[in-house]
Amino acid sequence: MARYIFVTGGVVSSLGKGLSSASLAYLLKSQGYNVRVRKMDPYLNVDPGTMSPFQHGEVFVTDDGAETDLDLGHYERFTNISSKKSDNITTGKIYSDIIKKERKGLYLGKTVQVIPHVTDRIKDFIKGDINKEDFVICEIGGTVGDIESLPFLEAIRQFSNEVGKKKSLFIHLTLVPFLKSSDEIKTKPTQHSVKELRSLGIQPDIVICRSQKSIPLDQRKKISLFCNVPISNVIETVDVKTIYEAPISFYNEKLDKQVLKYFKLKPKKKVNLQPWKKISNAVLNKKRIINIAIIGKYVNLKDAYKSLDEALIHGGITNNVKINLVRIESDKLNPKKVITLLKNVSGILIPGGFGKRGTEGKISAISYARRKKIPFLGICFGMQMAVIEFARNILKINKAGSTEFDKKCFPIIGLINEWNKDGKLIKGTNKDLGGTMRLGLYEAKLRHNSLIQKIYRSKSIHERHRHRYEVNTIIKDKFEKKGMIFSGMSPDNKLPEIIELKDHPWFIGVQFHPEFKSRPLNPHPLFSSFIKAAKNN
Ligand code: GLN
Repeated sequence: MARYIFVTGGVVSSLGKGLSSASLAYLLKSQGYNVRVRKMDPYLNVDPGTMSPFQHGEVFVTDDGAETDLDLGHYERFTNISSKKSDNITTGKIYSDIIKKERKGLYLGKTVQVIPHVTDRIKDFIKGDINKEDFVICEIGGTVGDIESLPFLEAIRQFSNEVGKKKSLFIHLTLVPFLKSSDEIKTKPTQHSVKELRSLGIQPDIVICRSQKSIPLDQRKKISLFCNVPISNVIETVDVKTIYEAPISFYNEKLDKQVLKYFKLKPKKKVNLQPWKKISNAVLNKKRIINIAIIGKYVNLKDAYKSLDEALIHGGITNNVKINLVRIESDKLNPKKVITLLKNVSGILIPGGFGKRGTEGKISAISYARRKKIPFLGICFGMQMAVIEFARNILKINKAGSTEFDKKCFPIIGLINEWNKDGKLIKGTNKDLGGTMRLGLYEAKLRHNSLIQKIYRSKSIHERHRHRYEVNTIIKDKFEKKGMIFSGMSPDNKLPEIIELKDHPWFIGVQFHPEFKSRPLNPHPLFSSFIKAAKNN
């Protein structure tokens, strides 16, 4: 039977619960155990799919087409295990399932309540879809003390009671602030946070203390005493220079050792930290710097393009260069500003996006990349804008646009009518926005002798998608005659998946999101190739 590890957070949010869970998962996996990492989000959205990146950072997409919290990206990148739909749940999803069931009369006349119905649904999520896993690590979003988290905390308390302490473990991650003025490390917020948790019936077994500075023995003793945790289970996590050092740092602090000891287990094999040492060194010690412009609406928000930032770093690792991301707000761009703002960049990337704001700025940047022969990668919306740019400036279709934001345009980009998923036809819609896009893994066939085929070294690829609109193929021949090649198509030849330019050293647009599949230990070929082209530019 699987063992369950619950990770809660206290004092403030954004302490790195996701990274801690992902690092622990790596350490356990590396010692021969099967792991699974899951996330429970207390907000009322059914999934983050309709949320703005300003609210929630990036929306991560799984192979099986779930729109999830970005922490699942960390889990995948650290464990190299693909997450599934069944690895992320929100309060909204739980309530929506329960209300549907209630409307069908399936509760047989009972009053539907938080306890037991909501908590039962949470417990079903925790233990659902488990096969050979030795460890299931469940991260609970939010901070202890939030009203919204209460049903989750109650559910994990019940769960632990049901499976027993031998099969469950609670980890609490808190902040241990350092006060510069008095040159002191303060343990009080941690004490209060654990007190709050204990008032809900949860006694943490391990406390991870996030701190700017190493925590002296006296303060550790204090945390141990007040939080009722053995001192060996007070684990510190001091800020690391790169996130790739996190597994090494947790190993040095013996987090995995304490977890295995708790469950009375021994490592099945020796932990391998070599890849992380290599990657951290590679990231920290690069001499040559390459400027890559990333042009979007949310560039100033740290987490809005999380997987993309990571994938670019991975591409830098393969090419032995450090990537300097030049983040440019698309609203601020116009044909004149493009020249000054993009003067010193070696590659231009336009990420996925939605809506009209900033589109003209993106189009001017694409035009510049095309004319100046600067390596260009357009992802999803970025590819759609590249097709519009080509239609306007080369095919001279002045009104070329997307029906997503201009109903009167010449619809070079339009709503996808239907697509094939596992032999079934799915109808496109823009009426209900949640969960209705073309989501998850789809195949693309690559054209023989194209640049993309050389990059992937394959005739067929599978990549993750998240889009509602699509390049219109009615005038495909006109594009091809003028040098824009549709070098990747869906297997039924209906949906363009990849475009590239014949007379350009490296100009590629992809309808999918390659960034979701890039892993530090296995960088994505498209990003490696893009950075290589930028390096040679
Ligand atoms: N808004 C575009 C669409 O729905 C692109 C989506 C994206 O970039 N993920 O097709």
